[in-house]
Amino acid sequence: MDISTVRKSFGATEVLKGVSLSVPPGGVTVIVGPSGSGKSTLLRTINHLEKVDGGYITIDGRLVGYQVRGTKLHELREKDILQQRTDIGMVFQNFNLFPHLTALENVAEAPLVALRPGDPRRRTTAEVRARALELLDRVSLKDRADAYPRQLSGGQQQRVAIARALALDPKILLFDEPTSALDPELVNEVLDVIRELATSGTTLIIVTHEMGFARDVADTVVFMDQGQIVESGTPQDIFTNPREERTRSFFSKVI
Ligand code: ADP
Ligand code: MG
Repeated sequence: MDISTVRKSFGATEVLKGVSLSVPPGGVTVIVGPSGSGKSTLLRTINHLEKVDGGYITIDGRLVGYQVRGTKLHELREKDILQQRTDIGMVFQNFNLFPHLTALENVAEAPLVALRPGDPRRRTTAEVRARALELLDRVSLKDRADAYPRQLSGGQQQRVAIARALALDPKILLFDEPTSALDPELVNEVLDVIRELATSGTTLIIVTHEMGFARDVADTVVFMDQGQIVESGTPQDIFTNPREERTRSFFSKVI
C-alpha cells in the first residue's frame, strides 16, 4: 500500500500535512505519536472513511476511493467504495461490535451481506458459520460463540472484533489503539492475538501506545506529530537511535 502526500483538513485545521508512507505487503507497521497528531485520521483515509483533500492512496496499485476517467479523478460510487473496503479490516478502540448480534453473528455478518453476487469469496450460510467458528477459535473464543457483546469482557469483545475483521480475508488490517479502552489486565490477551496475526502474513497497520509491544512486533515504526511523519524506521532506529529531537522528546515522556 502506498500513501502519497495525503492532505486532510477539518475546517481551517490541517490535520494531515502531506503524509507519505509505503507499506510493504505482509509487514507490520506501527504508528506512534501524541494524541491529536492525526493517526486515526490517517488510518481512516486508508479505507476512505475520510476523504483526502490532496494526495492519494493505492492498494495493490488501485486508487482508494477514486477512479481516473480521462484526465480527471472521480469518486467511486458508494457500492464500489463498500466493495473496496472488503479488502480492508478495521479494529477500533471501542470494539464497535453489533450489540444485537452474537459473537458468531458478528463475525459472520460481513461475509453474508457485504459480498456481491459472483464474488469468489461468497459462501453458503453453513460455510460462513463454520468459518466464523474457526475464526473465534483462533482468538480462543469458540466457547463464547453464542454470547452477546454485553456478556463479554472488553478483552473478549475486542478479540471478537479481530475475528470479525478477519472474516473477509482482508489484504490489510488496521488497528486503532486496540487496547486503549481495556482494563490493564485484559490488554495482553488482545496483544497476544495481534502478535499471532503478525506472523501470519497479513499486512498490519497498528496505532498503539504500547511501546514494548510495538518494539516486539513492528517491522517499521512510524512516528507522527502534528499531521506529519517525523521519522520512520526499524524499532531499533526509532526507539533507540531516533534522529529527530521531536521523537526523542516524545519517548522521554511515554517510556
Ligand atoms: P490522533 O488519532 O493522533 O489522536 P486524530 O486523527 O484523531 O489524532 O485527530 C487529529 C486532529 O483532527 C485533532 O485535532 C482532532 O480534534 C481533529 N479531528 C479529527 N476528526 C475530526 C472531525 N471529524 N472533525 C473535526 N476535527 C477532527
Ligand atoms: Mg486516535
